[in-house]
Amino acid sequence: MLSRTSLLILSTVMSASSMASDRPFSIAIHGGAGTISKANLTAEQQQAYRAKLQQAVDAGYDILAKGGDSLSAVRASINILENSPLFNAGIGAVYTYDGGHELDASIMDGKTMNAGAVAGVKHIKNPIDLAFTVMEKSPHVMLSGQGAEEFALTQGFQLVPVNTFDTDSRYQQLQSAKEKIQKAESNSDYQASTGHSTGVNTHHNYQQSALDYSEFDYKFGTVGAVALDQNGNLAAGTSTGGMTAKRFGRIGDSPVIGAGTYAENGVCAVSATGHGEYFIRYHVAGDICAKVKYQKKSIIQAADEVINQRLITAGGTGGVVAIDQRGNIATPFNTEGMYRATRKNNEPAQVMIWSDL
Ligand code: ASP
Repeated sequence: MLSRTSLLILSTVMSASSMASDRPFSIAIHGGAGTISKANLTAEQQQAYRAKLQQAVDAGYDILAKGGDSLSAVRASINILENSPLFNAGIGAVYTYDGGHELDASIMDGKTMNAGAVAGVKHIKNPIDLAFTVMEKSPHVMLSGQGAEEFALTQGFQLVPVNTFDTDSRYQQLQSAKEKIQKAESNSDYQASTGHSTGVNTHHNYQQSALDYSEFDYKFGTVGAVALDQNGNLAAGTSTGGMTAKRFGRIGDSPVIGAGTYAENGVCAVSATGHGEYFIRYHVAGDICAKVKYQKKSIIQAADEVINQRLITAGGTGGVVAIDQRGNIATPFNTEGMYRATRKNNEPAQVMIWSDL
């Protein structure tokens, strides 16, 4: 027989645990969208991607399941992907035209609407952590290049050599991208055939910058995460090496709040991947959340409209992971594939690459 006191304790414990499970929490991550051809991905490669995505989503999920906050979950997942050579962020970042690496990242806290971002950093092993520190420890939202690294030093970050991020496969991608760029540049019919104007300055470099990178297979592979914690707080983060063969200090959408990353409590959180120029101009992450907020659209519908209607009409390729205040998840993409994984309260993870999983 249970005593009155034990019964009381038992019922308190039970109601506390049912309260906890009543509070939804979930996480979605991506490892980039693009031309992920089934024919070109071997069974071993597929297995390696799936295992790393599973590890990353589980790391974030475990934090949420224990009652941790969504910002920590987002960072934990992104750190794992940044440290893996499989993805275009941190180690494994794509090369710039000149053979270096310039990394971009951002993070947003839906509870406070605070955000932090870094652009064009070369010596920061985990740029998402520096973006977080910009948010927490500086009066600014976005720091770039050398200044961002000087700030990093004041915050106890160690600078790493730029070759930390080198991988052979990305180097090969750079060589083939450069070949295509040089071929297009030497094609005197290029401007006429594409209708691209190089503006008044016909200097060689400006011609290259006028090429539309979507004409080449630019190897996306950015990483990102969105999460809802048990206290109802949304967060989003994104980290990338950008686009292969980028030049002139090009910065993509990933560190731009409202383009590649956005989070607002009560509305939604989004992390994007794809052809950054389009994501900036079409304000993709912010547009999805605006549809949820003002048009009362579901996260599935809002994200689908932006990725599969608006962006497709514009010619922009890519996808997003998005999550709403109830923990519903949308992961639309308009490319062949998008590396992604999701996990919701007390359910097993789902790891996916193509639309048929
Ligand atoms: N969005 C990134 C950029 O344009 C690239 C990517 O998602 O792979 O820099």
